[in-house]
Amino acid sequence: MPTLMETEEHKALRAAASALGKRYGRDYLTTVTQEGRYPDELWSEAAKLGYLGVNLPEAYGGGGGGIAELSIVLEELGAAGCPLLMLIVSPAICGTVIARFGTDTQKQQWLPGIAEGTRTMAFGITEPDAGSNSHRITTTARRDGADYLLTGRKVFVSGVDIADATLIVGRTADARTGTLKPCLFIVPRDAPGFERRPIDMEIQSAEKQFELTLDDVRLPADALVGDEDAGLLQLFAGLNPERVMTAAFAIGMGRHAVAKAVEYARDRTVWKTPIGAHQAIAHPLAQAHIDLELARLMMQKAAFLYDSGDDAAAGEAANMAKYAAGEACVKAVDQAVHTLGGNGLTREFGLGSLITAARVSRIAPVSREMILNYVSHQTLGLPKSY
Ligand SMILES: Cc1cc2nc3c(=O)[nH]c(=O)nc-3n(C[C@H](O)[C@H](O)[C@H](O)COP(=O)(O)OP(=O)(O)OC[C@H]3O[C@@H](n4cnc5c(N)ncnc54)[C@H](O)[C@@H]3O)c2cc1C
Repeated sequence: MPTLMETEEHKALRAAASALGKRYGRDYLTTVTQEGRYPDELWSEAAKLGYLGVNLPEAYGGGGGGIAELSIVLEELGAAGCPLLMLIVSPAICGTVIARFGTDTQKQQWLPGIAEGTRTMAFGITEPDAGSNSHRITTTARRDGADYLLTGRKVFVSGVDIADATLIVGRTADARTGTLKPCLFIVPRDAPGFERRPIDMEIQSAEKQFELTLDDVRLPADALVGDEDAGLLQLFAGLNPERVMTAAFAIGMGRHAVAKAVEYARDRTVWKTPIGAHQAIAHPLAQAHIDLELARLMMQKAAFLYDSGDDAAAGEAANMAKYAAGEACVKAVDQAVHTLGGNGLTREFGLGSLITAARVSRIAPVSREMILNYVSHQTLGLPKSY
């Protein structure tokens, strides 16, 4: 029976993931990022504790849970200041798509490794000339004997350097109509013709973003995940978890920022009382907390719908959760920085860099405007402007 209250198992998972996050914390992630490394220690420990594959089937080394459980892990690591971006991509998108639509061989090849943290998969859909309009993507696979040759460009793809392969959204030509259908291909990191160039981003993040070029990358037939004719359905099976997980990322970051601001506002005294006693400081923090809680409720609904197999209802809820969480995160970080005055922008307190990081949850994987478009058209039935 669904309930608004978290189950005892979920509470225990939340407490355990939080404890793991607190053992590492913001300073660990900042140090790793400055050293140009990836948070391998945290990644491996999360894997050993069963968190990386908590959503994957038990038959393939996973925990047998769903996106609800994986989002708890990501939110708590974020609240502790050390979110793992690749959780959104590797187990949530790629792991889900392979678990639901992959062949037995693909499942054997990838799922145990993703769950153990020994294999990672990135996900590339965004293209320079398509952006928010993913119907315009032109990365195309054409048949060459038993193989495919994949050609195209991608942009902003996270973690390609640390991932063993990237799940690339391409298209194949329909043999009958000639129209292009979306398809998903597993492209190994070192495949000939698959080049990557890091993008110089302002965000301080351990995971880098890349521009990719695919120039007749030769792939065997079994690089195609699932069915050539069910591409769109398969794609959305991965995109809805991505939205739920981005919401978790944003809520965790927002909670981290609010907690830091509250701690500061309790002590900092410049007149007679701590600044937290001034309602101009207290109320916006209370509002930020409420907005994050509301966003979490929507995220839990989306995760519940997705995990119960209702892809259509999950789509709407996941979009709304991502929207609410992105907005709540941006406002929470802004207010937290403001609460610290000048210290909000010092490296010592580490909040200033979150201003840039928080914006990501408004833009990716689908922007605020595209969600508002979706709700305007799909939910409210308003006409399209484009
Ligand atoms: C840190 C980071 C990590 C990322 N990681 C990945 C990844 O791993 N894999 C991947 O594939 N992609 C990734 N992305 C890409 C991300 O998903 C895209 O940036 C996003 O989908 C927006 O596309 P765009 O940047 O081309 O913006 P555009 O599509 O050019 O949009 C620009 C602006 O115009 C607005 N706009 C566009 N069309 C409309 C419209 N019809 N109505 C109203 N407003 C509109 C948008 O809302 C946006 O504000 C990442 C991006 C970032 C910043």
